[in-house]
Amino acid sequence: MIPVADGHTHSNPVRGLGAAKIAERFREAGGWFMALVALSPWHYGMEFRGFDSYAETIDLLLRECKEVEERGIRVACLAGFHPADVDRLIDKYGMKPMSVLDLGLRVVEHEAKLCREGTLDGIGEVGRQHYKTFPTRALISQLILERAMELARDYGCIVHMHLEQEGETTLGLIDLWASRIGMPGEAKKLLVFHHSKPSLAVRAHKLGYSATVPGTPALMTRVLGNVDPVFILESDHIDDPNRPGAVVYPWVMAETLQKLVEKGRISREYAYKINVDNVVSLYRVPPP
Ligand SMILES: [Zn+2]
Ligand SMILES: [Zn+2]
Repeated sequence: MIPVADGHTHSNPVRGLGAAKIAERFREAGGWFMALVALSPWHYGMEFRGFDSYAETIDLLLRECKEVEERGIRVACLAGFHPADVDRLIDKYGMKPMSVLDLGLRVVEHEAKLCREGTLDGIGEVGRQHYKTFPTRALISQLILERAMELARDYGCIVHMHLEQEGETTLGLIDLWASRIGMPGEAKKLLVFHHSKPSLAVRAHKLGYSATVPGTPALMTRVLGNVDPVFILESDHIDDPNRPGAVVYPWVMAETLQKLVEKGRISREYAYKINVDNVVSLYRVPPP
């Protein structure tokens, strides 16, 4: 079997399967590495209590990461401040926009500190809403993202960026800010365009950035073998049966990959590049 990596996924031990079960099934399908990204506090059924709730989600994430590790899967742990949180905190929790900005900045600063100490591997998700929202809220999300990028530059944290899907514009806006803050060429690699279209992933790679591409069977069948293997696949499985959204289980992604290799649709080298080489190079982990 080809060792398979999931470059961006979630686990929800409160509402879904939780990391232990996910890791077991993923491992059976060839999984060796997983970047586990925290969900927002309310997704875990937590009552919202400001900053403390984010700290609590990080504790939960770290416990989930341990479950993954104990099942023989190498794990990278990331926690962020999702752009959708900005809207949620204003609409559902009645927070004032400026307070949301303060909270978001405080949360990413805290995460960067944990990242510098080696407790977290990176910040994610941060970024911009992929749907229409108020201009001020889009700007608040952008300011939090910009701070996260600065912290990535200073501390070497990986950042999973959740962005709108506007190809050149999306890439151009990130690249502009990266140049403004003097992001060194080598550090650009730490910035990951999550949920990226394959074409954007290739362009992002040319400028020195990283990207993860959704590992749905349809997309994998269409794209793998035809596009330069310069990205990592992601399931982005939210592990919550009550939340709609494109769900691909990490093990389904892994099984799809094994089948494509077995059928000779992609070479072993191509599969290794995506699932091992790119992961080893971004997360600085030893190969499986
Ligand atoms: Zn996302
Ligand atoms: Zn995600």
